[in-house]
Amino acid sequence: MAVTSSSMMLLRNLPTVGRIAQSVRANSRIFSTGEMIRVLPRIASPRSISSTRAAHNEEAAAKAASDTGAPTIFDKIIAKEIPSDIVYEDENVLAFRDINPQAPVHVLVIPKLRDGLTTLGKAEPRHIEVLGQLLHASKIVAEKEGIVDGFRVVINNGAEGCQSVYHLHLHVLGGRQMKWPPG
Ligand code: AMP
Repeated sequence: MAVTSSSMMLLRNLPTVGRIAQSVRANSRIFSTGEMIRVLPRIASPRSISSTRAAHNEEAAAKAASDTGAPTIFDKIIAKEIPSDIVYEDENVLAFRDINPQAPVHVLVIPKLRDGLTTLGKAEPRHIEVLGQLLHASKIVAEKEGIVDGFRVVINNGAEGCQSVYHLHLHVLGGRQMKWPPG
């Protein structure tokens, strides 16, 4: 009897059942593509919202910038014409805190003399020494900041690499668990 009444209910509601099945099929297609992101409301933490916004700003800045060889804001920082929070400095290298930190520790390490190194992609054999100095300075920064046992060094190269300032710089990041892949 119970079986009969549920079968009757199913028969009565067949159009509705059909619509649900259709909608599930349609949604499965949506689920299998990036469209899903636009269709379903996303539950995002304030931190993920702000990091997404930061990523978009960085991307926009990178698209707007170009490798013209013109002086950059870092020349003004080297010349101490604008303030920066310097973490380490020697004859060849300057390290200062990023104005828009992406981690508790976020320091930029730059050569004081750009010498054509707008990007890493412009490196020539004559730059080998300064490239080594930059890496070594990054390790000194990590030590000074107390993150030497776990940190990341990043060089963004060109627009697609999300570079926005055309004066070679190493990002030294740490003080939190890093993720991989970096995105
Ligand atoms: P990139 O996008 O790899 O070229 O990195 C350039 C970085 O420079 C970004 O992370 C910016 O936040 C940073 N930046 C830009 N202007 C300043 C500034 N005046 N002081 C410190 N960091 C800066």
